[in-house]
Amino acid sequence: MQSPESAAGTTYAHLTALVMNDDPIFQEWLAICLRDLGVARQYKAASGCAALDLLSRAECGIDLVICDLDMPEMDGMEFLRHMALSGSHAAIVIISSFDSSIMRSVEIMAGTSGIAVLGALQKPISRDALAKLLSRHYAGNPPPPPRTIVNIAEADLLRGLDANEFVPHYQPKINLKSGLLVGVEALARWQHPTHGLLLPANFLPLVEQVNVMDQLTRRIADAAIGDLAYLRKAGLDISLSLNISLSALDNDYLAVEIPARLHLLGLTTADIRLEATESIAALSWTGALETLSRLRLRGYRLSIDDFGTGFSTFKRLSNFPFTELKIDQGFVHDAAQNTDRATIVEACVALAERMHLTGVAEGVETAEDREFVTLAGVNEAQGALIAMPMPLDAFVAWAKTWPPLVATKSGAAIACEARDEL
Ligand code: C2E
Ligand code: MG
Ligand code: MG
Repeated sequence: MQSPESAAGTTYAHLTALVMNDDPIFQEWLAICLRDLGVARQYKAASGCAALDLLSRAECGIDLVICDLDMPEMDGMEFLRHMALSGSHAAIVIISSFDSSIMRSVEIMAGTSGIAVLGALQKPISRDALAKLLSRHYAGNPPPPPRTIVNIAEADLLRGLDANEFVPHYQPKINLKSGLLVGVEALARWQHPTHGLLLPANFLPLVEQVNVMDQLTRRIADAAIGDLAYLRKAGLDISLSLNISLSALDNDYLAVEIPARLHLLGLTTADIRLEATESIAALSWTGALETLSRLRLRGYRLSIDDFGTGFSTFKRLSNFPFTELKIDQGFVHDAAQNTDRATIVEACVALAERMHLTGVAEGVETAEDREFVTLAGVNEAQGALIAMPMPLDAFVAWAKTWPPLVATKSGAAIACEARDEL
């Protein structure tokens, strides 16, 4: 079971795969496919427990798991849950005979647990389908790095906030028709003294739990607004998107303090997009409506984030003063290969058009994703294909090279000069 097998070919020579399947014939067939494709080292496991054991051994260095959902004892869902808790960095290919809607739910569930899911293949699978899936992810753009989850104590979180260890990273947003850079989204990162750079999944739940979302929002928004002023001075005519939790919405910081600060910096609330998730609309109808309307009256643009993952009705949403609809990455990535996702993306575009909202696709990871959302009529896009979130200086360097030209107030000709100023 555990011995690595050498392989011919070089395409995926850097990969070590684990085939998790209880059917010895199918397991062997998958192993042969992977070997023929050039995957350098392979392990096999006939149960979830055996697979977790192999994943826990650093010497195995497994970076890809072909995971069958239909397993006895520990099923695929339970395996994925344990895998997420173990902090494994391996990416996953899901295999199952269930229909595509169940596989999509599992993919989304695994993705939100921090596991990098390359895709799902429905049985009977073909060698070509496996080859296509791997090449989409390992040829050209590497998939986003897997996410590590660490345990954080409340005292550590409060210390980190006091020590100003939370900073924004910036992910560019482009217009799909022109290819121009049109905005950045600020995403919170914690520069932790011992754990290194931590993503929001590590600290947001605790931030909510200990009621310090106001503090985090201030840190990120203050820093990002300062950075926006710097980028504007350098000639980049871009908007700034800030993620806002329900608990941070209902206060004067957004309605009064930020507008005053923006004014001092020569910016306005129209330069800011506040991103709220659907849960805002679901929780308190009148309260959320009043708060969001107040912010819209102040001039902010309001974006509904992760659209499609919440459970609000379209009717309720249509009453909120949103200006932008962000289609969740779980629907965008691989939409060209997956009819369910394609249908959802197209429905979101139709809805955005009817409601006069700017449609933004999140999670554009491949050229196929970009082509699909462009043809579907989405206006703007973010994702690994363009760039993952990065610190300000890296964003500035990225903006200098982003083709074709950087959008500026005075037009493309000035963009070249603006780049020189950066
Ligand atoms: P979000 O606002 O929907 O942000 C998009 C997330 O997708 C980001 O994860 C981003 O790094 C990731 N992403 C971007 N492009 C791709 C891609 O092509 N593929 C994949 N797989 N992922 C991509 P991140 O930074 O871990 O943030 C997670 C969530 O945490 C955000 O989701 C947002 O809801 C929340 N968040 C981040 N910063 C803040 C903040 O300052 N305040 C609040 N309240 N929430 C925040
Ligand atoms: Mg967002
Ligand atoms: Mg989102």
